[in-house]
Amino acid sequence: MTPATVYLVGAGPGDPGLLTVRAVQCLRRADVVLYDYLADPAVLEHAALSAELVPLGHHEGGRVLTPEDITRRMVAEARAGRTVVRLKGGDPCVFGRAADETAALREAGVPFEIVPGVTSGLAVAAYCEIPLTQQDEASCVALVTAHERNEKEESGVSRLDFAALAAFPGTLVFYMGVGRVAQWSAALMEHGRKPDTPVAVVRRCSWADQETVRCTLGTAASVVAERRLKPPAVFVVGEVVERAPELSWFAARPLFGMRVLVPSAPGTSRKLRDLLVGLGAEVMVQPAIRITPPPEWAPLDAALEDIERYDWVVFTSANGVDAFMERLLESGADARCLHRVRLAVLGPGTAEELASYRLKADRVAETFVTESLASSFLEEAAGTRFLLVQGSRARKVLPATLRMAGAEVDEVVAYGSEDVMEPDPKTAAAFAAGDIDWITATSASAVRSLARLYGDALRSARFASIGPVTSAALRELGREPDLEASPHTAAGLVDAILRVGER
Ligand code: SAH
Repeated sequence: MTPATVYLVGAGPGDPGLLTVRAVQCLRRADVVLYDYLADPAVLEHAALSAELVPLGHHEGGRVLTPEDITRRMVAEARAGRTVVRLKGGDPCVFGRAADETAALREAGVPFEIVPGVTSGLAVAAYCEIPLTQQDEASCVALVTAHERNEKEESGVSRLDFAALAAFPGTLVFYMGVGRVAQWSAALMEHGRKPDTPVAVVRRCSWADQETVRCTLGTAASVVAERRLKPPAVFVVGEVVERAPELSWFAARPLFGMRVLVPSAPGTSRKLRDLLVGLGAEVMVQPAIRITPPPEWAPLDAALEDIERYDWVVFTSANGVDAFMERLLESGADARCLHRVRLAVLGPGTAEELASYRLKADRVAETFVTESLASSFLEEAAGTRFLLVQGSRARKVLPATLRMAGAEVDEVVAYGSEDVMEPDPKTAAAFAAGDIDWITATSASAVRSLARLYGDALRSARFASIGPVTSAALRELGREPDLEASPHTAAGLVDAILRVGER
């Protein structure tokens, strides 16, 4: 068997919007994704539901694998016919050991492809408005690692040629420089760089909690120590740092620095998240339910095989749309096989999900009430063939009503869902530290599931409620909502949060 391909993919510095189109394509087709612990969960959402996601590194649940373990794993997976994405921060070839990995892959006869990414040292130019090159001030840039491998080190200072670096006629960008800042800054000054050379330390560039600290070569070490700055950070050393405005466009966005918890099932609160992220907020998503593959694919496959026999395909959730379309596309078919059937959806969010596949719903039940969809079909139900695409816990009202009205109804389970019973550790830690500013309460059931997961910890944050039903659920739990949106939509919710910010 010819092995599958391994894709070494650059994920960019953090913001999931900085993925390349090619990176997204590779993620979509991956059977296994090996990812660094820094990856944003939104990046991983591009992977198929069935893909195996393997965290590497130091975070909760992450196994610490040696570089050799990782290479071995990639080779084994590819040989088993599974397409692998090895996701790396920034660009895989900038301090990313790409060459070691490709050498091993080549030796093993495993085909590979490298997908470049935005490297963090260059991202600071855009996100902090530090022009790394500037006419008359800096006509070249050096990317430098301050952290050489241990075996090269003797006296604690790496073997970098500091005389050459100090004399470099342009901007220096140091990666991995936090731990040894005292050493490398001193070495540069010893070799003649002036202590008042401007320096910008940029931590978690392009993430919602990006931090920029301005100092000089002479003060960099003490500033890092005082502020207890932790990696990942890059240091930009050079006159161009002076050109950066106090607040870059990125840091000036209205919700920058705010942390908002969005309770959701994957996929359904995308709109809310996108709006909040667009305004600069850091969004933490707490899924209330976990989406899994269905217990068996055969019923859905059979329905897809014979899709032309249906008059209507009905989707009751965005997750159903995703599962159905993914399966359809995986089978090698495309949306044309739906040309004859009509499409009905429950709720505008489900319609939007369908629209993301360039498909327009013929009927949208505006309220999230199954009964309203069922009753809209009553007149025409007799003799009509329906395919209901649902989750494993679908209510029985819709099929029962349709059947009573004389319709022929096939129900397929396109995905499973289970209640999430354990709080997300990152979110729990943020609550404990009082670091969550807002909780968007988007439904009564979301509120109840948050209460189940976090209990009293919720007290430290403010609640933004989407509407009266959700507010009532909050009051039942003894919490008065801090605001209630009007209109009762994602956009209304975000507007209300913005207005509080302005006050
Ligand atoms: N291949 C990566 C670099 C890996 S080395 C790239 O191209 O960006 C890890 C170092 O990258 C960190 O120590 C830090 O210096 C830098 N880094 C990675 N992500 C960063 C971010 N979002 N903001 C600032 N520095 C970052």
